[in-house]
Amino acid sequence: MVTPALSAPRMWFVLGVSAVLLSGTACRLAPAGEAPRTLAGPWKFQPGDDLTWARPETDDRAWTDLQVPKSWGRQGFDHIFGLAWYRTRVSLPWPANEPVALSLGKIDSAYEVYVGGRRLGGVGRLPPSPVMEYDRHRIYIVPASTRESDGSIVIALRVWRADGKSAGAAGPVEGPFEVGPIGPILERDKLAESAQLALVLLFVGVALFHLVLRLLRPEAAAYGWFGLLALESAVYAFLRTQWKYMVFDDFVTLKKIEHLMIYLVPATFLQFLWVFFSRPVPGSIRLLQVGLLAGGAVAVFTPGLETALGLLPGVQVAAFSAAGAGAVFVVPFIRAGDPEARLLGLGALAVVLTIGSDFLVERNFYVAPRTVIYGFAVLVFGMSLALANRFHRVLADADSLRRELEARVESRTQELSAAYSRMEELALHDGLTGLLNRRAMLDRARAGLAQARRRQTSFALAMIDVDHFKAINDTHGHATGDDVLGHVARVLSSTVRASDDVGRWGGEEFLVLLPEADAAEAAAAAERLRHQIATTEFHADAHQAAVTVSIGVAILEGPRLETTGLDVLIRVADAALYHAKAQGRNRVIVSG
Ligand code: GH3
Ligand code: MG
Ligand code: MG
Repeated sequence: MVTPALSAPRMWFVLGVSAVLLSGTACRLAPAGEAPRTLAGPWKFQPGDDLTWARPETDDRAWTDLQVPKSWGRQGFDHIFGLAWYRTRVSLPWPANEPVALSLGKIDSAYEVYVGGRRLGGVGRLPPSPVMEYDRHRIYIVPASTRESDGSIVIALRVWRADGKSAGAAGPVEGPFEVGPIGPILERDKLAESAQLALVLLFVGVALFHLVLRLLRPEAAAYGWFGLLALESAVYAFLRTQWKYMVFDDFVTLKKIEHLMIYLVPATFLQFLWVFFSRPVPGSIRLLQVGLLAGGAVAVFTPGLETALGLLPGVQVAAFSAAGAGAVFVVPFIRAGDPEARLLGLGALAVVLTIGSDFLVERNFYVAPRTVIYGFAVLVFGMSLALANRFHRVLADADSLRRELEARVESRTQELSAAYSRMEELALHDGLTGLLNRRAMLDRARAGLAQARRRQTSFALAMIDVDHFKAINDTHGHATGDDVLGHVARVLSSTVRASDDVGRWGGEEFLVLLPEADAAEAAAAAERLRHQIATTEFHADAHQAAVTVSIGVAILEGPRLETTGLDVLIRVADAALYHAKAQGRNRVIVSG
């Protein structure tokens, strides 16, 4: 998913270079030397119709000189509709036995061609039952018999201009007008539009790539609209070439589809633009889009080409409005430094300029090749770069967001686990002395007893109570009492073995667990504790206070280990402690 989109700019670069190389190769392949002669230049022109004008001997000296290819409408004959004739004489440098061909470009609205008075063919049909067809380049073999005695030929075109055709139409208007040996003529014809064809294939590639992306990620709507736009551009560019007749040989239908694309491209472009910048399409733009779609439907579904041709100036205005609206929309993004907006703006500008140029060529203001396909190329590649950039940035953003989130989760987790340890500490320990509390001691005692039972050893515990503690409190104050408890806790902890648990049972009572100790060991341990406390000095109010403890010890061993519970053992220790108090304190009593 990620990799193809990231490598997209590189891919388009490679494809673009291939296209350039391909067209370069095409130009180099065009054979030199026997180069065909161009027929572009002044021809004789005469409005009206007379079939004898096809004959070579016809005197056309009084006819008007008109440039070919350029419509007669643009050369002072805008008012002429119906039939008119063109003638020219070309001397052929090739020997009479060399087969010669004539290549004719676009002639509006239909024509017949004669050489040496012989009709070689034509495109469309002339009155009385005319059929418009003005977009087919055609090659005619020139029979040797049509040559004059000096080797030259006289070419005559009988041309018809349909009613309602604009001033830009009528006559030879565009494309190749050449004569030459058959080989080179056919060769040039084949190669003439190969660069355009390569671009068309590129557009199709771009289109499929983005449509598939859209299918894989339904949220990537901009990819879908862009894929559609690239596809429409491909169809339009393809229909501008002569290759279209290899796919489908029906002039009117092909022209209708070509017209439909002129409606769809600006509508789709607007849609893409607003989706790309994540803005809702405003009402005025929707209206323009609906108008374009309606126009496209009318152009396609009305019979014949007349309606579509009549709508053409309207759709051109609509397309320019779309481009203008797009520009107004994008300029603030460009100003704000959006890198994608700059690419899109550049592409849109290229399309507007090339459409403008083609518009002028179409109306024969000047003679030049059509360029809109190259405008589309800039737009399509600019847009795929913009999309790839955007994709890359979104991914980078998502990545840093993910990393930030991970860091935040990590630190929260640490905070939580620290808080949990603190809570655990609080739940199991006594706040004043830091020893295990009663609950924790009960847990440990249960576990110790269970282990002693498993191992068939013994289990002892010592209940410890500070002697005359109330008196310490009363004499020195409650705070000193607390200090005494801390002191006793410290002495107990440092005196017991590491495996023995010490806890605060409550008030001034402490509990020490002596796992696996028998009666003698338990008594010795308890005595050690008592002694240590009685002999460790404790200072209160600069006076030494005597702190002693009494200890009751209870042991479980032998058969009683199994039958006696922890509560009983504690009660026994309490009873022993009671006895220790009764016998004068600061002593250990071990319960039998
Ligand atoms: P005996 O030798 O019989 O044990 O006499 P005693 O004074 O130590 O026993 P008694 O049970 O009469 O008094 C215990 C006192 O301990 C009463 C209570 O106020 C005090 N005490 C309990 N918990 C704390 C504590 O956390 N801090 C302080 N300073 N005193 C406490
Ligand atoms: Mg007590
Ligand atoms: Mg006490």
